[in-house]
Amino acid sequence: MSRLVAFAAIQGGYKVVSQVEGELERALQTYDASTKVGFGNTAYYLPVIYSLTGMKVETLEDLKKPLEFARGLLPPHLKGANHLPYLGPLLDAGMAGIFAYEIKEAIRMLNDPDFYILQEDPDIDAGKIWVGPADDTILRKRGVEFVDGSAPGFAAIVGAAPDAETAKMIIEDYQKKSLYIFCAANHNGKTAIQQCLDAGMQVGWNTRIVPFGPDISSAVFALGFANRAAMAFGGVQPGDYRKMLMYNKNRIFAFVNALGDVGTEWAVAAAGCVNWGFPTLADTDIPEILPTGICTYEHVVANVSHDEICQKSVEVRGLKINVTEIDIPCAFGPAFEGERVRGGDLFGQMGGGKTQCTELVKMAEMNDIEDAKVEVIGPDIGDMKEGDTLPLGIYVQIAGREFQPDFEPIMERQIHHLINYIQGIMHIGQRDISWVRISKAAIEKGFTLKDIGVVLHAKFHQDFQKIVDKVQITLFTNKDDVDKLTERARAEYKTRDERVDTMTDEDVETFYSCSLCQSFAPSHVCTVSPERTGLCGAYNWMDCKASFEINPTGPNQPIQKGKVLDPVLGRFEGVDEFIKGASKGAIDTYNFYSMVQAPMTTCGCCECIAAMLPSCNGIMTVGRDYAGETPSGMKFTTLAGVMGGGASSPGFVGHSKFNITQKKFILGDGGLLRMVWMPKALKEELYDRLNKRGAEMGVENFADLIADETVGITEEEIMPWLQEKGHPAMNMDPLIG
Ligand code: SF4
Ligand code: ZN
Repeated sequence: MSRLVAFAAIQGGYKVVSQVEGELERALQTYDASTKVGFGNTAYYLPVIYSLTGMKVETLEDLKKPLEFARGLLPPHLKGANHLPYLGPLLDAGMAGIFAYEIKEAIRMLNDPDFYILQEDPDIDAGKIWVGPADDTILRKRGVEFVDGSAPGFAAIVGAAPDAETAKMIIEDYQKKSLYIFCAANHNGKTAIQQCLDAGMQVGWNTRIVPFGPDISSAVFALGFANRAAMAFGGVQPGDYRKMLMYNKNRIFAFVNALGDVGTEWAVAAAGCVNWGFPTLADTDIPEILPTGICTYEHVVANVSHDEICQKSVEVRGLKINVTEIDIPCAFGPAFEGERVRGGDLFGQMGGGKTQCTELVKMAEMNDIEDAKVEVIGPDIGDMKEGDTLPLGIYVQIAGREFQPDFEPIMERQIHHLINYIQGIMHIGQRDISWVRISKAAIEKGFTLKDIGVVLHAKFHQDFQKIVDKVQITLFTNKDDVDKLTERARAEYKTRDERVDTMTDEDVETFYSCSLCQSFAPSHVCTVSPERTGLCGAYNWMDCKASFEINPTGPNQPIQKGKVLDPVLGRFEGVDEFIKGASKGAIDTYNFYSMVQAPMTTCGCCECIAAMLPSCNGIMTVGRDYAGETPSGMKFTTLAGVMGGGASSPGFVGHSKFNITQKKFILGDGGLLRMVWMPKALKEELYDRLNKRGAEMGVENFADLIADETVGITEEEIMPWLQEKGHPAMNMDPLIG
C-alpha cells in the first residue's frame, strides 16, 4: 500500500478532527449546551454516529462524546519511509474523519438552518441547490429500492468534471445503470451538480442525481443514508458496527468517484469509505491502494479516464448489472421515471385534455400478429413543430399460449411506467385519459413515436416471459383512427369494469393490494375489493387477481380481509395489518366506505377526487379531465397536488369514475346520495348508471339533481339550486357528526 495516501489520509484525519473541535467549541460559546441539533425529520439522530456507536446525539452537548471518540481513533502520525503493514491505522483515521464530518454538518445546520432545502428536489429558481440529508420519508421511499434491487447501489461523486459535457456523460452512464448518484464537494469552486444544471439535466432524488452539498463534509450524508437503510430494512441494530459495515460491503454496491485534486480532506473521506467496502476511483494521479483486503477488489484506483470511469467503477466494486439494451436513441431505465417535462422543456404533447390519447391492450391469435412489428399510422414527430399537439392511440396486441383476456388490463397498466422510463418523455394517466409529454432534449436525440412501440415490445417480453410470445404495436395519430380506437376501448373498459358489477365485498374473503404507485407515493397502498376498484380506474378486483396469478411476488398481493371491524365504514382487521406493513408503518388503518373518517390513501393517478362540501351537507367529485374551478375552492390539479402523495386525508378521497356508482361508494357517509356537484361531462358520462344507482337508493332521476359548473362553482352558488330541486342531501344527517 502506498505510504503517501496513508499519510495524506491520516493528516486529513488530524486536520478535520481539530477543525471540528474548534467549531464545536465556538458553537458551545454561542449557544446553550442543551440546544437541539440534528438532521431534521429522522428517527436516526446523526445516523453514522448512531448506527456505528449507538450514541444518540440530540443536543450540542451530545456532540462532545462522539468527537472525543473520533479523536481517540486517530492513529499515531506516520514517520519515516516505512510501508504500512496494515490498513488499520488508515481505516481508523478515515472513520475519525467521517465522524468529524457528520458533526461538522450538524453544527452547520445549527448555524445556518436554511443552508439545505431538505426536500427531494432542489428549488433552482430560488437558488436552493443543495438538499442536504434525506429525511425519513425519503429514506422509506428510496431506501427500499436499495434493498429490493431496483437500485443496485450508488456512485458518490465528489468534486467536478473538467466541463459540463463530461459530467453529463459520466452521470448519465450511472443513471442508465439505475444507480443513484450522490454528489458532494467542489473542485476549485466547481461542482458536478452545477455542471449537470449547466448541461440542462434535472437533479434531485426524482432523477437519482442527489445534490447533497457543496463541501466534502456533505459526502457523509451518503454514508448516513446507507446506514439508515441497513437499520430500517436490513434489521441491523444501532451500535453493531461490525454487522453494519459488513451489510454495506455485501449489500450496498457503492463507490466514490473523486473528480479533481485529492487533498488531505478528500483522502480522509476516501479512507473512511474503505471501512464500508466502498472503493474510490480518481481521475487524477494520486498514489493508489491496489492490494485488496476490505473492499471487494482494489481500494483506491487513480488516473482513470472519464470515458471509462463508469465501467471501471462498476468492475472494481464487483457490481453485476443487467442492462438489456433497448434500441432507442434515448436513455432508458427506472432512473428516468420521476423526471418531469416542464413547460420550457416541452416540444409537443398528446392527450392531457388537449387531444385524445388512449391506450388499449388486446389479446390476439398467434397467427394474426407479427412479433416486434411497430407501425405508426399518421403523422410522426418529424411532422410536428415545437408546441404542436397530436392525438394518439396506443394499440398493443399480444399473443401467447398462456395469455388470457383477463391479463389485458394488467399489461395496459404497465404502459404508464414503461413510457416514463424513456429519458425525456413523461407519461401521466391511463386508459382514455393518458397524456404524453415529449421534451426538446428527446427530440434532439432523435426520438420518434415508434420508440414507444420498441420499448413496449421489449419490456413486455422481458417482464412477462411466461405469458407473452408475440407483441405487435400500432400507434395511431390521425384523429379519426384515434376516435375509433377510443370508442372501442371505452366499450372494453366498460366490459372489464362490469365484470365485478354483480360481486359484493361480502362475497369474497380475499381482497388484493396494489402497490404499483409506491414509486411516486411511498406510503400509498390501494386495497382493491369487488366494490372498490383501484382509484386509477385501471385495476379492479378481477384484474388484481389475474395480476397475482401472473406474478405471485408482484405488486398485487392477496389480503385475507379477516374480522370485520366496522361494517358501515368498511374496516377489516386483515387489511389493517397488511397496510401497516406495506406502508412501512406510515398508515395504521383506513376505511373502505368513508371519505370523512380515515379514508383510503390517495396517489396522483386517481381518476377523480371527492371533497366534502360542508355547507351543502354533501360532497362533490371532480375528474382529471375537468380543468375548471370547483365548489371545494380547488381545481383538480390542486386537489391532486395536496392529496396525491399517498396520505389519508379526511374529507377527501381519490377514486375511480366507475367507483362512484358502485354500491359501497362512501356508504359510511351516506353513499351516492351525498353527491351534490360533478362536472357536467362526468355526469353525462355516468348518466344512466347514476340514475340506476339513485333509484336503488330510492331517488328517481338522481343525475338531474346533481349540480354542475353550469349551475355554479361555489357552495353559495349551488345551494339555492339544490334546495329548489329537493336534493336528498338537504335532508340527510349532518355530514360531520
Ligand atoms: Fe394500483 Fe392503486 Fe396505483 Fe391503480 S392507483 S395502479 S390500483 S396502486
Ligand atoms: Zn397512482
